[in-house]
Amino acid sequence: MAREFELINFLFEPLSKGLAKDEVGIGDDGAVLNVPENHQLVVVTDTLVSGVHFPETTSSYNVAWKSVAVNLSDLAAMGAKPGFYNLALTVPDNNHSWLTGFAKGLSDIGDLYSMPLVGGDTTNGPLTITVTAHGWLPKGKAVLRSGAKEGDVICVTNCIGDGALGLMVAQDNLPEPVKKQILFADCQYLLDALNVPHPQLGLSEELYSFANSAIDISDGLLADVSHILEESNKTAVAENDLLVAVINVDDIPLSKVAQLYIDNTEDWLSLLAGGDDYQLCFTVSPENINLAKKIAKQAGIEISEIGSIVSYDELDKSNVSKSETVNDRVVLLKDGCEFLVDGAKGYMHF
Ligand code: ADP
Ligand code: MG
Repeated sequence: MAREFELINFLFEPLSKGLAKDEVGIGDDGAVLNVPENHQLVVVTDTLVSGVHFPETTSSYNVAWKSVAVNLSDLAAMGAKPGFYNLALTVPDNNHSWLTGFAKGLSDIGDLYSMPLVGGDTTNGPLTITVTAHGWLPKGKAVLRSGAKEGDVICVTNCIGDGALGLMVAQDNLPEPVKKQILFADCQYLLDALNVPHPQLGLSEELYSFANSAIDISDGLLADVSHILEESNKTAVAENDLLVAVINVDDIPLSKVAQLYIDNTEDWLSLLAGGDDYQLCFTVSPENINLAKKIAKQAGIEISEIGSIVSYDELDKSNVSKSETVNDRVVLLKDGCEFLVDGAKGYMHF
């Protein structure tokens, strides 16, 4: 792209600050970076496409913030500490004010989490942002999706569903009765949940000390819990060894405004399958739950117990039918009875 150098020099190169003397960031053919001794590198990539992963009207500041935040959320789910990130940016034109807002968004989130931008690529085309983030954790301590055990308690951080409601606000899709009852400040709160999510890094650096498995909630709670089971069940030898998640809908933490939405609509599907939460879901053995709560409290993060991991065999003995939900590996209960949420399969990309 003709003016690529100008763009990189003025806007992006300052974001490479904070590197050690023997490290190299933006400006050379590649970045040269140190990883602390006895640690492993964790690398994550996420792409956001305009009109697909964020509304086209989203400000460039928010697009930048979210592009980095979604990657940090993946690092958080692994239990990693953020280190650096790369940016592959495809922009339709060289709009200076758009790029300035974008660089400010990068700068703010980079400063907040002490993450230098160490390189990338800039091309011309439909607005697409790919961030690759690098973090690290002590050798052998990664918290994997595959670690869930029978008897584990399923926990989530903070509130579920606000990002999905934020998208309804952005698209002016909130149902009329809800629209009438919510305040301007509630709309702003929901839009912030969608546009400037905060990855749960406060908890994640100690995740390995209590969690057996973890995932960040990006595609909706149901789909993401189902991903934990999919991975954790890969080692099962017989059907009765298969694990299933039983979630009590009444224990799912909702913000005041999400509760108002449910009271008016009973539309759980949007909140549980809508995506864009960027909260953590982890499973923890009952003996570690108090440790998890203590660490979460110190980090100022709310955690809620929403269910448990049981064996398929166990489910057979309960009053839950082996209905279609079992195929999705997640059973929802409400007032102790099976609760079916039609089409609750999470956000589908294709
Ligand atoms: P090359 O042709 O060797 O790939 P470039 O001209 O693409 O070099 O990039 C020059 C330098 O600027 C490199 O260090 C590269 O990492 C950095 N860079 C290019 N685009 C971006 C971007 N969008 N964000 C951060 N760094 C970038
Ligand atoms: Mg290049």
